Amino acid sequence: MNFLEERIKRDGVVKPGNVLRVDSFLNHQMDIALLEQIGQEFYRRFADKPITKVLTIETSGIAIAYPVAKAFGVPLVFAKKAKSVNISGDVYTAEVESFTQGKINRVMVSKQYLTKEDRVLIIDDFLANGSALQGLIYIAEIAGATVEGLGIAIEKGFQDGGWRIRNLGYQLESLAIVESMNADTGEITFKEQ
Ligand code: 5GP
Repeated sequence: MNFLEERIKRDGVVKPGNVLRVDSFLNHQMDIALLEQIGQEFYRRFADKPITKVLTIETSGIAIAYPVAKAFGVPLVFAKKAKSVNISGDVYTAEVESFTQGKINRVMVSKQYLTKEDRVLIIDDFLANGSALQGLIYIAEIAGATVEGLGIAIEKGFQDGGWRIRNLGYQLESLAIVESMNADTGEITFKEQ
């Protein structure tokens, strides 16, 4: 087991509805040393790519993306959930279905912060059905930027987001891939990588 799998096994809480709670170290209280380690691991995995920007989605993606952007020495841009239906023409938008809230959010990135010169590394905390990543890929594409790869802290391998994204031909790196989890027993197993 790697460092993240060990931590998930120790402190992750399995909830009904295929939800894994990692509030004690990633999603509410944050273990900064662990986040730094995650940043270094993504840096190692994508070190050969000419990354100019890290792209994520608010809110929980930001904490994971921050140490990655720091390791690459590049800016971090996060897609914001659009609050108003009147969105100006200065932004790229995409619709993302929230797995945990079960609703559609329109997310946006200012055209100022993503251009066709950018080589983007997309980062998020979880991968379930792939809607968040597909929205971010779409935004990068309409900006004319190049998606160099995608990094996920925790992929739920029993949902089909990972399959979808890899099928599109992207390099997708997940630090932990949950193979199964049981809300009754709390047991979590990981796919060997
Ligand atoms: P997807 O778009 O791949 O269906 O879901 C990914 C997004 O939903 C992530 O940005 C993450 O915030 C949230 N998410 C999905 N599954 C889980 C989960 O099991 N636990 C937590 N904490 N967040 C999740």
